[in-house]
Amino acid sequence: MTTPRQSERWTEAARGYLSRTTPVVPPIYQCTTFELDDDSYRDIVEGGGFGQTWYTRFGNPTVAWAADAVARLEGGEAAVMTSSGMAAITTTLLSLCRAGDRIVAARELYGDTRDLLVRDLSGLGIRVDFVATADLGQWEAALAAGPTAVAYAESLSNPQLRVLDIPRVAELAHRRGTRLVVDNTFASAFTVQPLALGADVVVHSATKFLNGHSDVVAGVVVADAASVREVQRRVVTFGTCLDPHAAFLVARALHTYQLRLGRQADAAARIARWLEGSPEVMEVRYPGLGSHPDAAVAERTWRSGRRGAMVAFVVGGGNDRAARFLRALKVVREATSLGGVETLISAPHNSSQFSYTPQELDLAGIGPGLVRLSVGIEDAAELLADLDQALRRTATPAAAQPT
Ligand code: PLP
Repeated sequence: MTTPRQSERWTEAARGYLSRTTPVVPPIYQCTTFELDDDSYRDIVEGGGFGQTWYTRFGNPTVAWAADAVARLEGGEAAVMTSSGMAAITTTLLSLCRAGDRIVAARELYGDTRDLLVRDLSGLGIRVDFVATADLGQWEAALAAGPTAVAYAESLSNPQLRVLDIPRVAELAHRRGTRLVVDNTFASAFTVQPLALGADVVVHSATKFLNGHSDVVAGVVVADAASVREVQRRVVTFGTCLDPHAAFLVARALHTYQLRLGRQADAAARIARWLEGSPEVMEVRYPGLGSHPDAAVAERTWRSGRRGAMVAFVVGGGNDRAARFLRALKVVREATSLGGVETLISAPHNSSQFSYTPQELDLAGIGPGLVRLSVGIEDAAELLADLDQALRRTATPAAAQPT
């Protein structure tokens, strides 16, 4: 009798278990490669290998499970996970654009996305023109100015919280044969579904609300099956695939997605209303407030009553006061990133937008004293008390409130 190979022994045991059991959560296929037989060789040759289970960079069951779950959340036909949000954006844009093409992009963008457009894609011969997220006239004029491969924007801009009018910009783009790519990280799929409103591709930093536990860096691209296949081919060649263990964590976090987001958004709305009444706060930006310049767009296009869990506000006293205020917080944590179960706060000028020049900050609406709050799942009253004590402790004498 010959000794079975190690893999055969494992396979026999595993097949025995798998034939009798169905796990209620996706197992982690922490595995780079899968045994091949005649059928799998045929599938690979005929199907190009993308999304197939033979080598994890092409496809992996745990990673595919996470992608399908996000596709359902976004109401998309298909999705592909990537190694980060930036990987999702880069892989998408390099799938849709060639040297000589043009992108019309919103000028209010996450700092690294802007860097990618300005420094990297322009270096590859892709021209980028910027417009104001909320100015439909600028979108129309820029799209009419010449052939455009991609219109690119954030559904809710980081950190100004300007709202993209997705149906109108999609209509302007499609009239010119341009595809609309929307980064839905900041608003979240809980709040708005860009594909249903006319966007062609949605990208996310899954690092944020989708995973929500500040322990995974991941991204995802959602679109129709043919477009996702094109992106997936580049995930393979650029090597921007997600690790199965990270995908498992994202998949696990999605079980509580609606619960987390519901609680986070309720607390954000309450905090935004409270901040608006604080004499220490010069301006509050939250799309659920009547004072928000894009409140009507959010009302018309976003899901009923849902306005997200991000709040931006301007404290009196400029960036120095903002820095002291951030340090005085005890429950809210001073850190970059967003979308986690813990409430985080940061000053964009020296975190998410650190690469902007003073002129670019000004043009992007990031003025002195602006802070960005990502509301977590803590008790809202505790968060309000913390914000209150830090604002009072750091008040300038002239503006100090009686304690
Ligand atoms: N898009 C937005 C709106 C973001 O805020 C970020 C990160 O903060 C990214 C993309 C990039 O995501 P990641 O850090 O997962 O690469």
